[in-house]
Amino acid sequence: MISPRPRFSLSAPDPKKGSLTTKQALLTLLIAMLISSVAGSVELISHATQMRQETEQRITQQLTIVNGAAAEAAFQLNPDLAHQIAYGLFNDNEVAWVSIRDDFGRALAEFDRPKQADSTWLSQYLFGDILHYRTSLAYYMGSDMPEAVVGEIELVLAEGYLTQQFLARIYTLVGVSILEAFILSLVIITFFHFFITRPLLKVHAAIAQTDPTQPGKWLKPVLKGHQHDELGHLVDSLDHLLKAFQQGLEQRDQLHHLSNMDGLTGVANRRQFDDFYQRHWHLAQQAQQSLSVIFIDIDNFKEFNDHYGHAMGDDTLRAVANALNLCIDPARDLLARYGGEEFVCVLPGQDHEDAVSIANCLREAVLSLAIPHAFSSTHSDLTVSMGVASMSPDFLISAEALIERADQHLYRAKRLGRNRVETRKRPA
Ligand code: GH3
Ligand code: MG
Ligand code: MG
Repeated sequence: MISPRPRFSLSAPDPKKGSLTTKQALLTLLIAMLISSVAGSVELISHATQMRQETEQRITQQLTIVNGAAAEAAFQLNPDLAHQIAYGLFNDNEVAWVSIRDDFGRALAEFDRPKQADSTWLSQYLFGDILHYRTSLAYYMGSDMPEAVVGEIELVLAEGYLTQQFLARIYTLVGVSILEAFILSLVIITFFHFFITRPLLKVHAAIAQTDPTQPGKWLKPVLKGHQHDELGHLVDSLDHLLKAFQQGLEQRDQLHHLSNMDGLTGVANRRQFDDFYQRHWHLAQQAQQSLSVIFIDIDNFKEFNDHYGHAMGDDTLRAVANALNLCIDPARDLLARYGGEEFVCVLPGQDHEDAVSIANCLREAVLSLAIPHAFSSTHSDLTVSMGVASMSPDFLISAEALIERADQHLYRAKRLGRNRVETRKRPA
């Protein structure tokens, strides 16, 4: 009996459990978002630094530019000029408060903007230390006189306005970098899907369609553009593996066949008879069907061997086996060499009458070979004796009982003169 082959079954990837493409997409998006947020943070810090430097430079420059004119206004105690200068500085939204004072600290001009936004930890952190500016107004009196300090300009920047400007730039930057990351992810996902996932699915489909009993006959997929890379090597390795597996299966089948065959006659051997008989005995018990056994023994074969030689004896055994085989249905019955010059037939589902008529056919088939046997005690040609037994076995009787009966009938056939079929139908 051939043992069941190992089976492998492959199912299509379950989209609910996450296909490779979905996993790749999620992972790529996650990585892209992570990289873009790290890059965004670096950009945020660099923008903050740049904005602080630019603001500081610009205000310092503006104060340097207006320093001469403001000193003139302070020296002349000219509030109109001071107003003009202070207003010029104040006109920019980023200035919250500006004041020009004389050397006694009296305000010549002062502008104050109502508070637009509360100070927050962010605005303090970003601009808290660059909000306040105070510059002395130096007045040049003449070439032989030292510069005199005639007043000062004080200026405070609008913290909320600066923060708003900063955030507006950052929002744009973050938005653009998220969009960039998203587009990049889409490109990567599409590339990986077409370049890796699809070829892998092709390999999967080819394996899934392969007959497990014929693994070497799988339709090896052709992966264009992958012949020389890892995917191509994977398919080649798989191909080698499946072909080796197929060879192994064929060798196993061959060995199995050989281990169940009689080497001399080519019919089933004793081992196969034992398996077959046990199997059909149980089937007959379960189905309450009859099972018949015929024991066949060549008559006076020792004399045949002794006089015609062992080689002739072997040829004769082969010829007898072939002739016996013609009388049975190989799809249903089994003819086996039981040992030496004895054969046995197992006839599943055949009752006593059927078995006796098959036995007669067997006996005549051997006789019709017309193999001369001058030293036989019964006939001038080679003959066989047979014992037939049939049964519809119940569960109380042992499998050996039927064989013993057939053997006893054979023994009687020998005693009663050979070249005959002996049987006695007994109820099971
Ligand atoms: P009987 O009619 O009572 O069966 O007598 P027999 O001579 O056939 O029986 P016996 O058991 O005395 O001898 C069987 C002979 O079968 C002995 C042996 O020489 C021969 N034999 C058994 N196996 C082989 C085989 O493989 N090849 C050959 N050539 N002869 C075999
Ligand atoms: Mg014999
Ligand atoms: Mg014998």
